[in-house]
Amino acid sequence: MELYIHIPFCVRKCNYCDFLSFAGKENCFAKYGEALIRDVCSHGELVLKDTTVTSVFIGGGTPSLMPEGFYETLLSEIKKSFIVQQDAEISIECNPGTVTERKLTEYRNAGIDRISFGTQSADDKELRMLGRIHTWKDCVESFAMARMAGFDNINLDLMMNLPGQTKETFSETLKKAIALSPEHISAYSLILEEGTPFYERYAEHPELLPSDEAAAETYETAVQILADAGYLQYEISNFAKSGRECRHNVGYWKREEYLGIGIGAASLIGDCRYRVEADLAKYLDGLSYEPTEELTDKDLRNETIMLGLRMNEGVSMYDLTERFGSVYAHSFSDKMKRYVAQELAYEKDGRYGLTVRGMLVSNMIIADLME
Ligand code: SF4
Repeated sequence: MELYIHIPFCVRKCNYCDFLSFAGKENCFAKYGEALIRDVCSHGELVLKDTTVTSVFIGGGTPSLMPEGFYETLLSEIKKSFIVQQDAEISIECNPGTVTERKLTEYRNAGIDRISFGTQSADDKELRMLGRIHTWKDCVESFAMARMAGFDNINLDLMMNLPGQTKETFSETLKKAIALSPEHISAYSLILEEGTPFYERYAEHPELLPSDEAAAETYETAVQILADAGYLQYEISNFAKSGRECRHNVGYWKREEYLGIGIGAASLIGDCRYRVEADLAKYLDGLSYEPTEELTDKDLRNETIMLGLRMNEGVSMYDLTERFGSVYAHSFSDKMKRYVAQELAYEKDGRYGLTVRGMLVSNMIIADLME
């Protein structure tokens, strides 16, 4: 089972962000930390005592805002409450400019072995437009500090298709990121989320954003630059040096069980999905869940296809037949053959997956495949 811990605090909200995170809640850090530890203990001791944890992902928000010493306590409680596999991948998301040598050393001492930096761009003008709290220089310094602290597995998150960004300017960001030689790079396309300042600014003015054609060119160029630099694409937006794929995310796309701890965190246990309410005050007073969602066979089939096609290795016909029967597998195969004919998908060794061109229109293809 995979474990996800949510830290919902940020220094300030970025202009495009609709993640579950709050700015200006420093007075809640200690109480929230206590609530997380309470939940780790109760899930481990009462519910999932004999479950082996294969990966831990501490995400946010900005987990690196939590006070020094917190993660040593948290990880020690996790290890007391669950059986944590000896080589479990333990990742933390950090924002450049919020880490210190002491914090990074503490993370290493706590057993954290992977850092994901929310870098987003190597261009300070873009970083200001996004409302990020850091500069590119901060990114370079934080990266160097993480290496000094002994981290040999680092991801940089980048954003594509920003207002005013071109294939050339994103390539510059990518090249500067590659020059640092991280083990992993994620490159996500900007999505306008309702309720954000970016939505207000750009939803009515799509002409201020790169066109679909420009976005497609940027993506294809990025995939090529990354491939040339030795980063293998293993998912629509994720690239890694050999063997450095994020095990936690791969598990999620393969629908392995996961337990989410913290506000808004989702869990998938068996064929049921649980979600902690996204209410900070309620959470601090005691755990509170939304109604359990029991997944139907149709949900399971749709999720398997939707998540499987995100990954370059695609969907195995053998697994699909074993799980859902030959009638369903054949109907999936018939639909995929049409995309293979259009070079948007491939068929190889009993698997169907999307080509780079197919990934550009993955939303359309996946929507078509949903029951
Ligand atoms: S740092 Fe991340 S989680 Fe926090 S506001 Fe910015 S994008 Fe959202």
